[in-house]
Amino acid sequence: MRTPRLGKRRKSLPNGFILDCWILKKKKKTRHSMANHSSLTHSSRSTSRLSMGMLMLVLCGLLASMVAAQGEASDIKVPQNSEWLKAVDLSRVPDIAVRPVGSGICPNATCDGTDNDRCFESCGNTPTKEDVYGCPKDHHWALTFDDGPSKYTHELLDLLDKSNIKATFCVLGSHVKEFPDVLRRAYQSGHQIASHTYSHPHLMSLTNEQIIYEVKATEEAIQEVLGITPKYIRPPFGEADARVKALLKSMGYKVLLWNVDPTDYDVFNLPDAPTKIQGAFKMAAAGKDTGLNPHEDVGFISLQHDLYKESIDQVPVVIDYLKGRGYKFVTSAECVDDKEPHRSPALMRAQTVDRAASASTSASSSTSSAAKSSSTASSSSNENIASPTNSHSGANTLSTSASLLLGLVALTFMFSA
Ligand SMILES: [Zn+2]
Repeated sequence: MRTPRLGKRRKSLPNGFILDCWILKKKKKTRHSMANHSSLTHSSRSTSRLSMGMLMLVLCGLLASMVAAQGEASDIKVPQNSEWLKAVDLSRVPDIAVRPVGSGICPNATCDGTDNDRCFESCGNTPTKEDVYGCPKDHHWALTFDDGPSKYTHELLDLLDKSNIKATFCVLGSHVKEFPDVLRRAYQSGHQIASHTYSHPHLMSLTNEQIIYEVKATEEAIQEVLGITPKYIRPPFGEADARVKALLKSMGYKVLLWNVDPTDYDVFNLPDAPTKIQGAFKMAAAGKDTGLNPHEDVGFISLQHDLYKESIDQVPVVIDYLKGRGYKFVTSAECVDDKEPHRSPALMRAQTVDRAASASTSASSSTSSAAKSSSTASSSSNENIASPTNSHSGANTLSTSASLLLGLVALTFMFSA
């Protein structure tokens, strides 16, 4: 099945900053040759100013190396707490090997290891009865938005508020840290909050431990802002095999997928993005096969990303269109008549106690399973994630601004007479 693909986040090395320093050096050279034609006093003052300029350049260089170091470490670091591992019962998690990340879609994948690289996204992605793909209710539609919160989410919340529609937000823990106020507003407006992991990795390529960190770090981020924990999780790229699903279940989650995909992540910057995005909604509403409906649900759960303004811009059009065809908007949890889409802290504590008791009886098998999984790990949990709003470039932007400021000060010293 098609899955949303996030582009690789570009390395946020401060190229602009390096260029600034290069310009400074060039201008310094010019200034030096001009100084040769000046009086001794002027030359001496210039030398002093040049020394100051040099000092600034050194500082500039120092900042450059700091920023460069930051750029190298800019991949998202997933918080890890060994206590989280103890609270998860692995006894029902099947011992399936970690799958290496490949690329492409492969409809007839054998998934036996010989074509995992080529067919990764198909391997192990077998729908189960428990997975929520669509809305089992006729003329019901759940709008879902992934990868936020972002700087565009407020605009989306305004649109949804205006129409009094409750949607589902599958949020990244790393973005929650960055936009806590946006998450708070979404929750207080009555929208469902679901997890989408911390750093958007291919979960099947992670060990059990790494998956637990991804999920628990996101729980913690959401807890800090809202005091609740989501009950639904959308695996990044829609990828989850039996091991990943069992692990998510043991952590109290229901797997939330979708049965309408306007592929906004692929088309958002195309001239005909509006037509393409609206087309997917119209096709599903017209009863055509979306190719993503293993449970043949009569209602729909659509996938969009509040990372793309172009996708958000289509929301009012889509709402009008679907309303005109008699669709009722619901959250994903309402689709399956779940009145509690989030878990309260009290419920979480009770579940942890239950799991701890259960884990004590199966501790040895759990440990060996986790260890085996770790030994076959092939990729780190620090997946790059895309984002026009990429927050993690924020620190670099700040540092770059500081370097620019230093550069300007250096220029002032060198050129003022
Ligand atoms: Zn995503």
